[in-house]
Amino acid sequence: MKRRIVILGATGSIGKSTLDLIERAPDAFEVVAVTAATNAAALADIARRTNAQFAVVAHERRASELAEALMGSSCRAAAGEDALIEAATMDADLVVAAIVGCAGLRPTMAAVEAGRTVALANKEALVTAGALMTQAASASGATLLPVDSEHNAIFQCLAGNRAEDVSRLILTASGGPFRTASAESLQAMTPAQAVAHPNWSMGAKISVDSATLMNKGLELIEAHYLFGLPSARIDIVVHPQSVIHSLVEYVDGSVLAQLGSPDMRIPLSYALAWPARMATPAERLDLQQIARLDFEAPDLVRFPALRLAREALEASAAAPIVLNAANEVAVERFLAGKIGFTDIPALVERCLDRSDHTPPASIAEVLEIDRVTRDLVGGMMEATCP
Ligand code: NAD
Ligand code: MG
Repeated sequence: MKRRIVILGATGSIGKSTLDLIERAPDAFEVVAVTAATNAAALADIARRTNAQFAVVAHERRASELAEALMGSSCRAAAGEDALIEAATMDADLVVAAIVGCAGLRPTMAAVEAGRTVALANKEALVTAGALMTQAASASGATLLPVDSEHNAIFQCLAGNRAEDVSRLILTASGGPFRTASAESLQAMTPAQAVAHPNWSMGAKISVDSATLMNKGLELIEAHYLFGLPSARIDIVVHPQSVIHSLVEYVDGSVLAQLGSPDMRIPLSYALAWPARMATPAERLDLQQIARLDFEAPDLVRFPALRLAREALEASAAAPIVLNAANEVAVERFLAGKIGFTDIPALVERCLDRSDHTPPASIAEVLEIDRVTRDLVGGMMEATCP
């Protein structure tokens, strides 16, 4: 029997890697539904190629474009958030949650509430609603399979071991493109420099997050919710080669690591085939060629985003929502050339300082904190950069 897959965010970097793996194993997978934000032409092309039954663009104004592009095919076209949720809850064996940002929260949550197995790339959904999402998964019987390479590595290192025997998680960070840049040079770094990641090819937003180290901060929060360990038992180490994707330390002092070339198709394949494995075209590790692996402490002075994320995780369930929303808006403005690189963590810090931290009791409350923060950071930017 083929595994039926829904891909939320099919046109993005993770979406494309997922399609690449699925198209290499046509006997193993069947694509049921695909979604995108606005790119109707690219989405229609994917839907036709994969014979998907249902294609959804999030933005309603692209509805007619998608319908036209799918004319004559057997794929149904739709637009808007309700249609995204319909796609997320279709009868399927696996939902790949690869929308970027808090925009993915409702559809991802809908898949979790429907009891689906979810391959989770959309870390912002877990950062903003981690407790609600893991509770919903326990209630519905949904399984969360981490796709983020660090969390996928930890998930692999946990297999066959008892959760109570884990003493510590160690997340590795590449350090990003500015790992060795001076503090003074950071403010002038351009969007083009920030998205040029040394090891990974990814979407624009996560690439900027990797440059500020906010990505590692979001991943710290993600790890807390996925694996249930407190902040004090999740360490971060900079490992510039990105060969070790993360590690788990056990009570006996044993440390297990997962290694591989920096290719998202490896963690994605583990989620697609879980609990089995499948072949991927990822480059094999040549340890003699790699020759050495380096490790260093992250610099929280040059990269305050990581400190802010840890403080947010330790503060309340609301603070990570504020952190994430302020960061999403700031990154967008940075990419548009409106603010400088070090303004990103500075704006996030000001938003955290000025926000009320009452924990959300529902997804509606999460989205309300997200909305209020977007307004707050928008106002701050207008005040400082007309
Ligand atoms: P991307 O920007 O390349 O793709 C994002 C996808 O989401 C696209 O299909 C886009 O159309 C869709 N999307 C964007 N805004 C939307 C909206 N408002 N409503 C509905 N759909 C929308 O991003 P990516 O690099 O593929 O990352 C996707 C997610 O996976 C992110 O949360 C990222 O942090 C995570 N992730 C990515 C990588 C990577 O290697 N790219 C690695 C680890 C985790
Ligand atoms: Mg990662």
